[in-house]
Amino acid sequence: MRIAMIGTGYVGLVSGACFSEFGVTVTCVDKDESKIERLKRGEIPIFEPGLDKLVASNAAAGRLHFTTDLTEAVKEADAVFIAVGTPSRRGDGHADLSYVFGAAEEIARAMDGYTVVVTKSTVPVGTGREVERVIRETRADADFDVVSNPEFLREGSAINDFMRPDRVVIGAETERAREVMRQLYRVLYLIETPILFTNLETSEMIKYAANTFLATKITFINEIADLCERAGADVHDVAKGIGLDGRIGRKFLHPGPGYGGSCFPKDTLALVRTARDFGAPLRIVETVVDINDKRKEAMAERIVAAAGGDVKGKTIAILGLAFKPNTDDMRDAPSLAIVPALVAAGAKVRAFDPESMNEARKMMDGVEFCDTAYDTMPGADVLAILTEWNEFRSLNFQRIKELMKAPVMVDLRNVYEPEMMAKAGFTYTSIGRPWPY
Ligand code: NAD
Repeated sequence: MRIAMIGTGYVGLVSGACFSEFGVTVTCVDKDESKIERLKRGEIPIFEPGLDKLVASNAAAGRLHFTTDLTEAVKEADAVFIAVGTPSRRGDGHADLSYVFGAAEEIARAMDGYTVVVTKSTVPVGTGREVERVIRETRADADFDVVSNPEFLREGSAINDFMRPDRVVIGAETERAREVMRQLYRVLYLIETPILFTNLETSEMIKYAANTFLATKITFINEIADLCERAGADVHDVAKGIGLDGRIGRKFLHPGPGYGGSCFPKDTLALVRTARDFGAPLRIVETVVDINDKRKEAMAERIVAAAGGDVKGKTIAILGLAFKPNTDDMRDAPSLAIVPALVAAGAKVRAFDPESMNEARKMMDGVEFCDTAYDTMPGADVLAILTEWNEFRSLNFQRIKELMKAPVMVDLRNVYEPEMMAKAGFTYTSIGRPWPY
């Protein structure tokens, strides 16, 4: 089998590399020439654990190729995956489908013989039909099927998520297309991965329903955490107590500064818009979006409160900028709301992130970026943990106390225990746990 992967970002590059590991011959295509040049040189343009080795071994085996030439790649392919971005459209929050439709047109012109065109990008319900129409209008004689195959991988554990998924969802409406997809995912059949075949609309809807459900679960526990703080309860014990109920489940019940990243914020918003367009508003999701936006602002206020109510002229040390650990992705990271709010309030912000500072530099003004976690701390009034990178889990408290003006920590990821921090002599703010201890 031979496939072309259009778009070589977090999803396209990981999916392409994993399919090549499954034995498929893959050509990854991107418009971004510098990205393709780097990949050809063996450099990985994003930070994703394990991806360098996977790309190197499959490229060396001759199964994984990189090009900017979409036509060549598509001509030879049995299936063409569209894995381009679907960001929020400026102004209205709908998914911007211009990259998807642009790719569909280019694919239509390049197709040679029967081709399965697969949307791997997250696209609103109805998009597959539109892709079908775009291809038909561009090439009346094209022999093709459109399939929806949404991706559920998470940045930071993307390879494992792709290789051992909870399920694979395939919206395909002809037996011919289903057979091509079965061949591509043959390795996952062997390990008995549940593979769900649906129509196009159902498959597209599953992806949004999954992401908005998860965003809702996070938002629920965040609100419970706020209530726990006022009521003297511990949100971690509450999460465990409810999560042990099999109907609820233990995952995604960790409180924090609000969900962020390249998917949940844009996908929740896009589903809200889609639902309104269909005249079936999703009021729960609308509320989730609203709560989450306000939460990020409230997190900056927590840091200001820890600084005594005013940060003007004060130094705030920030650990972690990426939206979660093990990625350099800064898209919609909570830090993008929190840090500018602190700068606007007059704080001097010194920040460190192990992987995302190159990206962060382009997105934040007035911040001093430091080389190590401890470099952020000299003379700092407050130390705030925004992302739970492993290296922030075992900081040397004595060293922190010697460096900071006063030992004040705001832990927005609940990396530490309040009791431990009290014993270490810190004034400590976390999420949803009683303090003072
Ligand atoms: P990304 O921005 O990292 O990558 C998209 C790539 O597509 C870019 O490199 C861009 O240059 C390229 N591109 C755009 N138009 C092109 C064209 N016509 N021809 C060739 N290349 C083109 O995006 P991403 O994070 O990989 O997300 C891709 C899709 O997958 C989105 O719909 C997203 O919602 C979905 N998704 C993302 C994740 C995630 O964790 N990032 C997880 C699941 C699903």
